[in-house]
Amino acid sequence: MTTRLYSHPIYLEHLTTPGHPERPDRLRAIERALNDEPFEMLDRAEAPEGDEQTILYVHPEKFVENVRRQVPREGLATIDGDTMLSPKSWQAAVTAIGAANAAVDDVFSGKISNVFVASRPPGHHAEKTAAMGFCLFNNAAIAARYAQRKHGAERVAIVDWDVHHGNGTQDIFWDDKSVLYCSTHQMPLFPGTGAKSETGAGNIVNAPLAPNTGSEHFREAMRSRVLPALDRFAPDLIIISAGFDAHHRDPLAEINLTEDDFDWATGQLMDSAAHHCGNRLISLLEGGYDLHGLAFSVAAHVTRLMKG
Ligand SMILES: [Zn+2]
Repeated sequence: MTTRLYSHPIYLEHLTTPGHPERPDRLRAIERALNDEPFEMLDRAEAPEGDEQTILYVHPEKFVENVRRQVPREGLATIDGDTMLSPKSWQAAVTAIGAANAAVDDVFSGKISNVFVASRPPGHHAEKTAAMGFCLFNNAAIAARYAQRKHGAERVAIVDWDVHHGNGTQDIFWDDKSVLYCSTHQMPLFPGTGAKSETGAGNIVNAPLAPNTGSEHFREAMRSRVLPALDRFAPDLIIISAGFDAHHRDPLAEINLTEDDFDWATGQLMDSAAHHCGNRLISLLEGGYDLHGLAFSVAAHVTRLMKG
């Protein structure tokens, strides 16, 4: 079985202000890391053009058109202090969705065991009607809905180990028991949501981590909360919101994970996918802002995916 990697040059053309952490160099660092010899067996594919209609599975048309209208002809347009649009941002965002949906098609085809999508902009902060936190549309949420509509998946699990809480994904599936959302994240930290008490319709599992904790607390949260929730839910597909900003080198947070933790967590979710859903697992890049920490972590993550 094969691990596929989606990327696309358009992802480098979503531009942000100088000094902004969510920058094109992130993908260049990942590309360099995965150009190494151990990754020769990766099935590399260019992301297909996305279907704009699938954005409407999650976001209302009025909001989507409002984002489209704000795309500038030149320079940058600012949605909030963190979140911006450049002339190619629309195309990048739609192509990120194209890759996420294609990854779903791949794992349901049975020919590909798992997929890593190296795309920008990220998605997990995008709520139904709000682009925020570097995110325009919620890639993971759209892919979950796509799996349900196109492939008849009844239950989709999204596991989000980005160091920030995925307020957008939680917002979108708050009262929807057909999607399980599990998140480990630093708290307190942006965006401020993600308390244990936020449980939606019983389908939201938040495992906040205190600042300056690391491997032990993260693995304990996965073992005691996330993995048992997956076992109870028995998903037809697992989607990882794969942010690597809980790495100890990351400048945006104070959680001290290493690439070994991402290797371990990847293995745990692959075991769960093997047990519940014929190995169907896709992983979508979210955050990760130290270029070395990001490169090491993605290399560990993809190496583990390839052992499936
Ligand atoms: Zn993050």
